[in-house]
Amino acid sequence: MKTNNINFDDLTFTFTETRSMYVTKCKRGDNWNTGELVPYGNISISPASTVLNYGQGLFEGMKAYKTDGGRILLFRPEKNAERAAKGCLRLSMPEIPKNVFMDAVKKIVKDNSDYIPPTEKGALYIRPIIFGSAEGLGVAPSTEYTFIIYCSPVGPYFKGGLSPIKLIVSTDYHRAPLKGTGGVKAIGNYVPGMLPSGNAKKMGFAEIIYLDAAEEKYVEEVGAANFFAIKDGNIITPELTGSILPGITRDSVIRIAKEKLGMNIEERRISIDEVMEADEVFCAGTAAIISPIGSIKYNNKEHIFSNGDVGNITRKLYDILTGIQFGTDSDPFDWILEL
Ligand SMILES: *Cc1c(COP(=O)(O)O)cnc(C)c1O
Repeated sequence: MKTNNINFDDLTFTFTETRSMYVTKCKRGDNWNTGELVPYGNISISPASTVLNYGQGLFEGMKAYKTDGGRILLFRPEKNAERAAKGCLRLSMPEIPKNVFMDAVKKIVKDNSDYIPPTEKGALYIRPIIFGSAEGLGVAPSTEYTFIIYCSPVGPYFKGGLSPIKLIVSTDYHRAPLKGTGGVKAIGNYVPGMLPSGNAKKMGFAEIIYLDAAEEKYVEEVGAANFFAIKDGNIITPELTGSILPGITRDSVIRIAKEKLGMNIEERRISIDEVMEADEVFCAGTAAIISPIGSIKYNNKEHIFSNGDVGNITRKLYDILTGIQFGTDSDPFDWILEL
């Protein structure tokens, strides 16, 4: 068996190979069966496969944490299973059943548990992918599908604790139109963002904010994270219109704000002009958990929020959410799956 000699001190959000991956396949018209663990390695695929030619595929992402006492914790993995199943239908792939998805998640984490860093050094990032793996020349659904889960230890997003990021509003590019595939983790949604995001990084910004494609007025998302604004103690987040990815972190933040902090939540369209008047702004997703936004540049104006510090409510939400995820606090919502 492969042994693990990773230095957990040097982890960043990059790929590190682990012992195994989980694989199962399904023919078009059949149902998925549970698969098996195989050593992590390259796969062989036809150059004419539907995923390589037409991008028929989706991905998921979640994290496993290891507590000081050695407990292994997953955060709401059934929600990833549900989202993947919906995504399969939108992308004309056979719907992945919850039991197959969960079997894979549990097996991959157990088999690679020695690759999970201690919580203060990071987490094990779990990456399910589902794609059309048979050849097909015409634009049509593949005749065979492959589901793989691999994993990688990753470092904490903020090395020195929470720190506010600088963002710029994208005025030249959109992420997703209404009635498109923005609401599912379709692989084809992500490449178009690499150019504007890369340009923003060259200019010293951490990421871009996307506006809606129809009116170019309402905030949609931040790169691959959901957006939140706080004004006079109310939390406002863009409503799920179909172009916005329904984040599990987003859903968790809403429930914590409502049920633990007693805040008023408004899920509605929020214009970029209204955002610029907010008291605190942050974005939320599995990779960064909660990222405070220190400033936003839109056209030629740059606005600083919370004096460039981490806002009080943002910090409270971060502390409550990570307390649950890291297993240092109780789990009032029954969100943790312990392996
Ligand atoms: C994955 C993703 C998110 C965040 O979803 P989580 O379930 O919270 O990780 C937000 N926006 C986009 C575009 C994403 O791909």
